[in-house]
Amino acid sequence: MSTNQPSGKSPARLKRVKILKKVIVTFVLTLIFLPLAMAIYFGCMAVSLKEELKNKESELNYYMELQSEASFQKNTNVSLEDVSKGEASLNEPYKISESDVSKLSLKDEELYAGYKKVYLTFDDGPGQNTDEILDILDRYNVKATFFVIRKDGRNNEKLYQRIAESGHSLGMHSCTHVYKDLYQSVDAFKEDTKELRDFLYLVTGVESDIYRFPGGSSNNVSPVDMHEFANELSKEGIVFFDWNISSQDATAIPLGKDRIVKNVTSQLSEYNEAIILFHDLDEKRTTVEALPEIIEYIQSMENTVILPITRDTNPIQHLSVK
Ligand SMILES: [Zn+2]
Repeated sequence: MSTNQPSGKSPARLKRVKILKKVIVTFVLTLIFLPLAMAIYFGCMAVSLKEELKNKESELNYYMELQSEASFQKNTNVSLEDVSKGEASLNEPYKISESDVSKLSLKDEELYAGYKKVYLTFDDGPGQNTDEILDILDRYNVKATFFVIRKDGRNNEKLYQRIAESGHSLGMHSCTHVYKDLYQSVDAFKEDTKELRDFLYLVTGVESDIYRFPGGSSNNVSPVDMHEFANELSKEGIVFFDWNISSQDATAIPLGKDRIVKNVTSQLSEYNEAIILFHDLDEKRTTVEALPEIIEYIQSMENTVILPITRDTNPIQHLSVK
């Protein structure tokens, strides 16, 4: 009996078995790794598309705000005479009702009766320029108003705190500034406002009672009637403010410093109460550069005072009364 004799298996058969084994192993490995590779590939694609979508969304928001400001700018060209003759629609800012005025403390109004009042407002911060803007305001001993969004992190917390501690007004401008989320329903708007108010209170101890709608109250992006949101704010004791002078610093291609100065100073004589719109965004360097010149110009105007917005301030509101 020979021990070398394989138990009835020919070399050809062994080779076939070996090949078959290889095929099976390759097939099994493919079954395991192909879906895995596909999952990784599509996962990566999803992450990059999500990122791109986020960027496009914020870009869209930005252009919508721009459009909204542009449309308001057009509206302000309507003369009051045209309005009174019924030849133009009512888009001019309206004053708060007498009953509401009686509820407000008129401290600034009394203190500066007969003065022209100018309010510098900065939207969309805090950001990389906030500290520098605050330094400039300190240098000229001026108090302004910051309509902020929610940004987490210790550095941002310090900025909210510095705004509040320096005596500037801390206003709300929504948590995320994403129109489609904020304006999707009254409930969403209420929740967003409460979240931001609580957040600011937690960080600064200030319970903010002033608001600026992203895109302004005259925006035409909200599917819900803006009056409904205005009513909600009013129920919470929050007053909203738009603007009557835009520095137009929100353009996609940043305006030069001189242009921003001119946009503001050329309109100042038109108003006894001027609320000026600026943006406290990282890329808005020319806003920061223009600020000292604008403040110096206002401080050189006779009987004119720069004040922070409070509930006492007469609101400039684009939204017409219903
Ligand atoms: Zn904004």
